[in-house]
Amino acid sequence: MNHILSNKNFNIALLGGGQLGKMFLAEARKLDICINVLDPSADAPAQLGANHFQQGDFKDFDTVLKFCSESNAVVIEIETVNVDALEALEKRGVPCFPPSRVLRIIQNKIRQKTFFKEKNISSSSFIIHKNLKSLRHSISNGSQSLPFVWKIGEGGYDGFGVKVIKNEKDTEDLLEGECIAESLVDIEKEIGVVLARDTKGEIRVFPPVEMEFHANANQVEFVICPSDISEEISNKCKDLAISVAESIEVQGLLAVELFISKKGEILVNELAPRPHNSGHLTIEACNVSQFDQLLRCTCKLPLGKIELLTNAAMANLVGEPGYHGSVEFIGLKDALQVHRTTLHLYGKSQTRPFRKMGHVTATGRNIIDARKRAKEFKSLLKIQSRDHK
Ligand code: ADP
Repeated sequence: MNHILSNKNFNIALLGGGQLGKMFLAEARKLDICINVLDPSADAPAQLGANHFQQGDFKDFDTVLKFCSESNAVVIEIETVNVDALEALEKRGVPCFPPSRVLRIIQNKIRQKTFFKEKNISSSSFIIHKNLKSLRHSISNGSQSLPFVWKIGEGGYDGFGVKVIKNEKDTEDLLEGECIAESLVDIEKEIGVVLARDTKGEIRVFPPVEMEFHANANQVEFVICPSDISEEISNKCKDLAISVAESIEVQGLLAVELFISKKGEILVNELAPRPHNSGHLTIEACNVSQFDQLLRCTCKLPLGKIELLTNAAMANLVGEPGYHGSVEFIGLKDALQVHRTTLHLYGKSQTRPFRKMGHVTATGRNIIDARKRAKEFKSLLKIQSRDHK
C-alpha cells in the first residue's frame, strides 16, 4: 500500500505558530512532510520551517475552516483554537489531533473537572460558582470554606486564572466568570506525564518528570527527568495517565499534570492535549520525542517504543523582570560553554518579564548533575532589552 509519506499532496494544518509548533516543524522537516501554519502574529516562531504560513485568527470559525479545508489532518499547539471549526472539519472527514470532543472538555477547567468526577479519576474536590458574586456570597455565608484554589473556567492567561484564596479580600482582583473553588492540596511534588495515543488506541508513555515552579512567577522553571520518585509511584503515575487517556479517548498527545500530596495521594491536576513544556526534554533524553510521536500519530505511522537514554533537566529561559522590547541575549558565549547542554531559542523578537524565549536541556550522569548544568546555563544567560528598562 502506498503510504502517506509517498503522497506529495499530503499536508497537515497546524493551528498556532508558537514554540511548540516550531519544534513540531523540526520533526516534520526530517520526514519532509508538508505543514501549513496559521497564527495571528506576523512574528510567530513557527514561520520558519513551515511550508506555508498564513497570518490569521485560529479562534475564528471561518478562518480555521477555510485554512484547514484542503488539509489531510489538523494539529493544534494551543487550546484556544475554534473547536466548532474542528468539529465541522471532522464531519468532512479531516481528522483532528486532538479530536474536537476532547478539546471541548479540556478547553474549560469546569468541564475538565466534571469529566474527572464522572469518570472517577482521582482529582481534588471542587465546587462550581456561576460568578464572583455567588463565590463571595458563599464565602460570607460559610458554605464555601477557606482556604481554596480559585480557577476561572475559561479565559485564564499568564497565571491570572488561578489563585489561592485565604480570605474574602483575596477575591477582589479575580477575573469575572464561571469558576471553580478547588480544595487546596498539600503538594509534595508536581509530576508531568506525557503520552501519545494513536488512532488505533495504542499508547506510549514517556517517563514521569518532576516540575519545579519558580518562587514568584506562576510558571515552571525546571523539569527533571526521571522524577525522583520510587518505581512503584512512577508506575502508578503512568497508569493513572493511561487511564485518563483511555477514558477521554484522546488521539495525539496528552500531557497529564499530577500532584503527589504529602499524604501520598496521586491526583490529576489538569490535562493538555498537545505538546507540553514538561516534554521538551524528550528531544535530547529519549529515542523519540513528544513531537516525533505526535507526527507519527498524525501520519498514521507506528508510535516509537520509548527509551530514556539519559538523565536530563530542562530550564525555561524567560525574559528578565524589568525588561520589555527588542530582545538581547547577554552572556550567551559563556552559557554555551556549559558542557552537555542544548539551547533552544524560539525566535521571538520581543521580550517581556517571564515571557518564554527559549529553553535549555542539560544531560548528566544523574539528575543532580543535569539540574546543576541547566541552572548554571540559566544563570549565565540574561534575556534583556535595551529599549525599556
Ligand atoms: P494553569 O492552567 O495556569 O497552569 P493549574 O491548574 O496548572 O493552572 O495551576 C497552576 C499551579 O497552581 C499548579 O501547578 C499548582 O502549583 C497550583 N495549584 C493548582 N491547583 C491546586 C490545588 N488544588 N491545590 C494546591 N495547589 C494548586
